Amino acid sequence: MERIPHYINGRRVSDAERVAPVYNPATGEQEKEVALASAARTEEAIEAARAALPAWRATSLAKRTDVFFRMRQLLTERKSELAAVLTSEHGKVLSDAEGEITRGLENIEFATGLTHMLKGERAEQVSRGVDVHSVRQPVGVVACITPFNFPAMVPLWMIGSALACGNTVLLKPSEKDPSSALFIAELFTEAGLPDGVLNVVQGDKEAVDVLLDHPEVKAVSFVGSTPIAQSIYQRAAANGKRVQALGGAKNHMVVLPDADLGMAADAAVSAAYGSAGERCMAVSVLVAVGGIADSLVGAIQERIDKLVIGPGTDPASQMGPLITAEHRDRVASYVAGAGSEGATVVVDGREQQFDSNGFFLGVSLIDNVKPGMKVYDDEIFGPVLSVVRVETYEDAVKLVNENFYGNGVAIFTRDGGAARQFEFEAEAGMVGVNVPIPVPVGSFSFGGWKNSLFGDTHMYGPDSIRFYTRSKVVTTRWPDPSTSEVDLGFPQVK
Ligand code: NAD
Repeated sequence: MERIPHYINGRRVSDAERVAPVYNPATGEQEKEVALASAARTEEAIEAARAALPAWRATSLAKRTDVFFRMRQLLTERKSELAAVLTSEHGKVLSDAEGEITRGLENIEFATGLTHMLKGERAEQVSRGVDVHSVRQPVGVVACITPFNFPAMVPLWMIGSALACGNTVLLKPSEKDPSSALFIAELFTEAGLPDGVLNVVQGDKEAVDVLLDHPEVKAVSFVGSTPIAQSIYQRAAANGKRVQALGGAKNHMVVLPDADLGMAADAAVSAAYGSAGERCMAVSVLVAVGGIADSLVGAIQERIDKLVIGPGTDPASQMGPLITAEHRDRVASYVAGAGSEGATVVVDGREQQFDSNGFFLGVSLIDNVKPGMKVYDDEIFGPVLSVVRVETYEDAVKLVNENFYGNGVAIFTRDGGAARQFEFEAEAGMVGVNVPIPVPVGSFSFGGWKNSLFGDTHMYGPDSIRFYTRSKVVTTRWPDPSTSEVDLGFPQVK
């Protein structure tokens, strides 16, 4: 059986002691296995990144920029190849896999502007004959730990900026779909990135714990579920590292009574069920305000009836399987329990039959959901859309703001004033106005509030430059030596 290796110091290395299965979710078959790094293997990778740091840090910005231009070219040329790898392990449909790679490419494009991003500031004559300037320098060796649901995009979000800033990187992808990270790392080598600058450590908690505790790792970027994000944040921060840990989500889409019904229904179905609901920006709660609820639920149901679910490699499929059998069963258990909690199961995805052993589940629509029900409170991370009915705009905002998570939120309306007020008061990191999945473009940054992000900076874009660099401020003077004198007073601006 093919074993997916690590990539350390520019070469593939493998371990046989501990491995994990890698499935093709569309068939349910285990097609590969992945090596799980031991503590010793992880330390070897950290040593490779440490050794590569001085030379990469000293590489001119022009040469670094070249690598990103070449990487952009290579990734564009080989997008469909990477998409096929990704779909075979994740299950999402090929067009969606290509879409994910395109969104990841935005950060490679952003990184080509690194000369501009890394510019410092300068103030002349802050005191008589004294100037001050600031520079941004790399933090050193950084660890990037990524989730299963975007096996190409999230690694690209992190490593593009981390490398551009002159750091060396240890990428620890999800063990469920690990090949995309390897593909990307090898492509970077082809683009001219020196050995040891980007290393891939395949593994699980054993490798992660070493990354969190090792003194040579100076910063940790993490994306995954909230409980793990919180524990990563606490452990790495206790060890003195800089950390950004992005967690789970429960994204609400508020539909006001004046919204265009067809447009809102299209958006809800697309954002709830795309990628089988396994997106951190998926809409999982539809908040129907006032009298629109009945017609909105009806319009969504009509669209659900036409959805095509099947293998990601079939161009007719709009939605693929879930990542594992356990995850599919967990998602199904929420649908099973919703009725007894007092909700109305309008469409039960468990009833759909599939002619396959793949990890498929039909989509579900659950009406009359309320806070306090498990189906509302938990992140389900599957093709399940809950509808909460509220009377007023104020009720909708209260619901959004009291939610445990605060990743993305959307409002659908034709009233500009209401949309502006919503933007002003919604407690979430990313807001969409008639946009259901408001993932910002690469020149802005991505991140949530509340329990969707632990740390201070968002990911990619301008925030990532702050996260992956340290500021150094230099004060300079070139006085006439004849004016020099001993002065024990604290320096004052003159
Ligand atoms: P996960 O938390 O299970 O795993 C994420 C990473 O952490 C993986 O690399 C995994 O190997 C590692 N990991 C898992 N358990 C660990 C442990 N006990 N100790 C140390 N490391 C551990 O998440 P997942 O299931 O791969 O991804 C889905 C989750 O990620 C969802 O909750 C989703 O909302 C979230 N997510 C959030 C964003 C965001 O931007 N906020 C983006 C994508 C995914």
